[in-house]
Amino acid sequence: MNKSISMYADVVFHNGSVITVDNSDNICQAAAVKGNIIAAVGDNEFVEKWIGPETEVIDLKGRTLLPGFIDAHMHLGMRGQNAAVIIDCNSDDVPTIGGIMEKIREAAEKTPKGTWIKATGYEQSKLKEGRHPTRDELDEVAPNHPVQLTRCCLHMGVYNTLALEAGEISPEKFAPGEVIVDENGRMTGLLKETACTYMWDIVKYTREEYMASFKACNDLLLEHGVTSVCDASFFGEQTIGLYQDAINEGIINVRMYPLVYHAYGKAKTIWWINQLLDTGLKAGIGDEFFRLGHVKILLDGSSSGPSAATREPYSHDPDLEGILIYTQEEADEIVMKAHNCGWNVTCHAVGDKAVEVMVNAIEKAVTANPRLHRHRIDHCGLQDIELIRRIKELNISVVSNPGFFHENAEAYTKYYGDRVNYMFPLKSYLEHGITVALGSDSPVIEVDPMIGLYSALFREDKRSGVVAGECQKIGLMDAIRMYTINGAYVSCEEDIKGSLEAGKLADMVVLSENILEIPPENLKSVKTDITMIDGKILYRR
Ligand SMILES: [Zn+2]
Repeated sequence: MNKSISMYADVVFHNGSVITVDNSDNICQAAAVKGNIIAAVGDNEFVEKWIGPETEVIDLKGRTLLPGFIDAHMHLGMRGQNAAVIIDCNSDDVPTIGGIMEKIREAAEKTPKGTWIKATGYEQSKLKEGRHPTRDELDEVAPNHPVQLTRCCLHMGVYNTLALEAGEISPEKFAPGEVIVDENGRMTGLLKETACTYMWDIVKYTREEYMASFKACNDLLLEHGVTSVCDASFFGEQTIGLYQDAINEGIINVRMYPLVYHAYGKAKTIWWINQLLDTGLKAGIGDEFFRLGHVKILLDGSSSGPSAATREPYSHDPDLEGILIYTQEEADEIVMKAHNCGWNVTCHAVGDKAVEVMVNAIEKAVTANPRLHRHRIDHCGLQDIELIRRIKELNISVVSNPGFFHENAEAYTKYYGDRVNYMFPLKSYLEHGITVALGSDSPVIEVDPMIGLYSALFREDKRSGVVAGECQKIGLMDAIRMYTINGAYVSCEEDIKGSLEAGKLADMVVLSENILEIPPENLKSVKTDITMIDGKILYRR
């Protein structure tokens, strides 16, 4: 019996604008895929030799073929929950508190008494009333159900009386400013940071709800050409196994790099990181579909809340305190331990006070124990030139979120004044040779990489058109690099993915246009036509 493996490709893309994102930024016309690997990339003539009788040939007709997008910071489980099992109250679609309450009343009518009602997505500054909803308003529409209504950033949320009781919440239990009270000392229902993340542990989800969430987010990612994600947090040790089940069952197809972090707050995070490090497990464990990522700590609040820990007062309200969750000593201790165990570390740091804490902690760790590392800072919202220099010197990478400008450029200008010129400063990172990858931080903003690319170029508020930090705009090729190969770099996987080169994993995306030729203003309307992961076409528009 004569049997052999075909010498031809399974799929050939040709007649396109193939942005390889290789070291020389080569643009070519065609690519061939065999199995799960890229077999050839080059001009039409070179690649067409790979076409055999069984090869699927896809005529790109001039469209762009790119490495699959790598979202270097998003929350797959949380985005999925919003899509599948949580009431969506985003302020574009539900612009009034009355509208939110109507949705919750409807849910209460359909939900058995005593069962949690979960809603999310409001942004108080975009609500007509210009304030957070209250516990009393929630009590009025859902007196018999515990209710969680989180703000779009998930760093804050409003809870009704039954929910506060379920969590045994009191102002004394948390740091000042985290449990909000009125002038009579009565809780308004608004919980911030640690008090809010603590409540994540009280609100329960079933396995079916988790799996439905993962599927919903996976579908969304495929629809937008995202082939790998760094999952920046979910519910720690109890969901990490669920992610693996979902991958094995084909519910999640995108490659995952989950950070070692716990969404239930600081105490749980420290516990979980220590548990893991104490096993003696080495960093990098996993495979190309699921690899355990950096150790992550959450250092401060959010940029739009605003609750980020800033060195100077907020520009719009000098009395507003940012929230720094770890002391320098606490951050030093955990960073040092992870570094000494051979793990890479990252953090959520938005305000410059928080960024400085992380830079200090990494500096101490690498000074005490110099070794090659891939430590990074996620968000790295505010900084000055001095911090940028230190980030470069310490060889720290950054995961930035220019897409935030799309939602918040106007608010940032109000909150941070001239500091927006060093906010998510992509141009400065390029000038200093700092490796920067991009993430949507979805569900904070939408997963669509086109919004991230557009915002890296324009830094513009989608509603008012206000531009924040004109001087930090960058060009499209640099932005594409940040959303592909640099995303691979910050998860230590640049050898296997992130560019279209022979021998790499066949993760790629066909866009609806040639994005190097359309006016950049039109980037946001570009769609994903085909998404391929591991050589398989998983989405066609
Ligand atoms: Zn995040």
